[in-house]
Amino acid sequence: MKLNDFKDEVYKCSGCGLCQSVCPVYKVLKKECAVSRGKFKLLNAIINKDIKFSKKTLEIMELCLHCQACTEFCPSGIDAQKILETTQNELLNCGIFNFSKFFAIQILTNKFYMKMLKLFLNILRKSKILEIASMFGCKKSQLLKELLKVKIKPIEVHSNIKKDIKALYFKGCINNYVNPSCENGVKKVLDNTSVEIIEADFSCCGLPLKSSGDFESFKNIAKINIDLVPDDIDYLLFDCASCKCTFLNYAEFLEDDYKEKALKIAQKCISIYELLEKIDYKPKSSWKTNNITIHFPCHIRGMKEKEIIENLISKIPKTNYLKSEEADSCCGAAGSFILTNSEISKEISKNKAQNIINSKAEIVLTTCPSCILGLKQGLIEKKSKVKTMQLIEFLAE
Ligand code: SF4
Ligand code: SF4
Repeated sequence: MKLNDFKDEVYKCSGCGLCQSVCPVYKVLKKECAVSRGKFKLLNAIINKDIKFSKKTLEIMELCLHCQACTEFCPSGIDAQKILETTQNELLNCGIFNFSKFFAIQILTNKFYMKMLKLFLNILRKSKILEIASMFGCKKSQLLKELLKVKIKPIEVHSNIKKDIKALYFKGCINNYVNPSCENGVKKVLDNTSVEIIEADFSCCGLPLKSSGDFESFKNIAKINIDLVPDDIDYLLFDCASCKCTFLNYAEFLEDDYKEKALKIAQKCISIYELLEKIDYKPKSSWKTNNITIHFPCHIRGMKEKEIIENLISKIPKTNYLKSEEADSCCGAAGSFILTNSEISKEISKNKAQNIINSKAEIVLTTCPSCILGLKQGLIEKKSKVKTMQLIEFLAE
């Protein structure tokens, strides 16, 4: 699709400004170019050939977390994410792109480089470098040290329960390469159930490529992943809300046989929390501190999954669920946004952290590994002692 194909969609913006009231970037920047309405005004001018694509257009398009809050609240029903991604695709095709971001994304979506990164992070985890740097007040080292802490160890005992549900496990990149706690948690929780976990050497889901408009690379990675999904599985299981959402988008970008297979796979995509609900999992918890709150990732916006998560939490014994304000607003990490717009990202994370602190919870749970980064960033900035973890880690304890 081309930007011109969205001509009518962009014209639909009535200028009501509702997007302004929910946009986390606008709340920090207070500039019209941060929000959909401002971006659509600019795109209108480009469609009408009043102005041309430029580096500035790219900078404005990149001022977005792809959190979809504006899409959810837009009374005209405009899908801002699709329009912004298509614009970035056209900019890329015109040779206008952010070189360092493009380079970083190519590395992050390449299996070989990520395996190298995993080795490097393991060395870093065992060394004292991050601890020493944190002692001298380096917040980035503190953030990385926190991120690398393995909370859930691999399970050693396997149960004898009959396994009649076959689930192919797609691990998110952070879980796969940065911290195995979530993967260990998934395996530990499912060990005593009828679910058999099958593994494959998947690539990244491709979300960073899609969000930055590199549709060709996104299609290639989607095809590689689709080829790894056999027909005889019951489910394609996800431990990350963003990866599942991306797989659901595959069919839209593909054609012929791949499109057909992507549509079939989409029917089998399930998050670990949806699966736990299906098998009527009874959670236990050995936590002494059970005052918890939840941060809902942007990629479950408008989905039933939010209810499923709250329902699961309500079944955890002795757990006190304290709701925080704006629990579904973006954590500020948003993939490469934390790198390309680090100061804005920090301010958004701080706003998020303040809402968590106000809830009086001692632990904040989420269901997306990238959100852990944004949550930790904000809580470190606020010097808060609130713990962050993924819900599956909490259940596995
Ligand atoms: S909410 Fe929708 S219609 Fe209203 S200003 Fe924003 S983009 Fe335009
Ligand atoms: S997707 Fe989120 S960050 Fe981007 S314009 Fe909409 S509300 Fe703002």
